[in-house]
Amino acid sequence: MSDLPEIVLPKELIPSDGRFGCGPSKVRLQTLDNLCNTKDSILGTSHRQPTVKDLVSSIRGGLTELFCLPEGYEVVLGNGGATAFWDIATFCLIDKKSQHLEFGEFSSKFAKASKDAPHLLEPEVIKSEPGTHPLPHANPDIDLYAFTHNETSTGVSMEIVKPEGISDKALVAVDATSGAGGLRVNSDQFDVYYFAPQKCFGSDGGLWIALMSPKAVERTMQIVESERFVPAFFDLKVAIENSRLNQTYNTPALTTLFMLNDQVNWMLSNGGMDFTVGRCDTSATTIYSWAENSDFSQPFVANPAERSHVVATIDFNEEIDAMAIAKILRKNGIVDTEPYRKLGRNQLRIAMFPSIDPDDISTLCNAIDYIVQKIN
Ligand SMILES: *Cc1c(COP(=O)(O)O)cnc(C)c1O
Repeated sequence: MSDLPEIVLPKELIPSDGRFGCGPSKVRLQTLDNLCNTKDSILGTSHRQPTVKDLVSSIRGGLTELFCLPEGYEVVLGNGGATAFWDIATFCLIDKKSQHLEFGEFSSKFAKASKDAPHLLEPEVIKSEPGTHPLPHANPDIDLYAFTHNETSTGVSMEIVKPEGISDKALVAVDATSGAGGLRVNSDQFDVYYFAPQKCFGSDGGLWIALMSPKAVERTMQIVESERFVPAFFDLKVAIENSRLNQTYNTPALTTLFMLNDQVNWMLSNGGMDFTVGRCDTSATTIYSWAENSDFSQPFVANPAERSHVVATIDFNEEIDAMAIAKILRKNGIVDTEPYRKLGRNQLRIAMFPSIDPDDISTLCNAIDYIVQKIN
């Protein structure tokens, strides 16, 4: 490992774009061109004026269309990314007690936020081994069920289904940060579907977006108007009211908004979710069948139904140093294939978000074969 062999990949093994990271992830070059073409019309202008408000309106309308949201659902947004939304949820969505499915780094963080909140009861946390996901169960004490559509740290995705037998009042809140826009979801099955735009939406970080059902909006209003102390920055009612006016509570990053809107338009103009999910499915078929057929690697996630179609985790046999492969790829301009640090496996993690060309995934697999042949 100390002296990595100098391996220069032949031209045909270099993907058209070398960015395979899970976030911030590949931003399409066309988006950057489009941004440059706005010249002095958006960046550097007030977010309280029509130009930026129209952009926010377009994002809200575009996401409503992309996710086929029923009448009454609202697209709400604010600053702070998905991580801020966990605190928002502990202040404004969980009434007394939540249930969390914990199967990796991100799902454990929301569970911890709920556990630490002094105004809430101890949450019910259902865990499973990394590389799998647990199942929820109905519990009459639970008023919010917390799911993660795609656990980015392990490459496990779960189907979003409201658990059978839950109370009519209970909410289902889904962290969809890396899944939204690349995995199928049915709006009947959630009350809150929240994400940040630096994954499938090929934008930058710092923003959160929540698709909210009328029931979730009603819950928010009840809690915020109750005795509970809610800091203004985490006040979801404030965010809902600002979003209805196509603005955020405080200043947003205009570049992030522009790139998010550009990506939503790209998705819609190519056919919406059929297009995006189709690309992710193709990439997933390519990489998992490559790993299964290879004699030095295999998919980390044993159950094919739980294998993510947006983030692949590939284990390597011990005689092959995955980190060395990642370093050689990086020297050839192919970046961010390193595994999630805390998982601690001899693994590569590869994003397959909609922006990433399925042909590039295929090229990447061939490049890895080439490197393995050279270093062994
Ligand atoms: C990336 C990610 C987050 C964190 O998003 P931030 O915008 O950095 O707060 C949360 N959950 C999941 C599933 C993620 O993939």
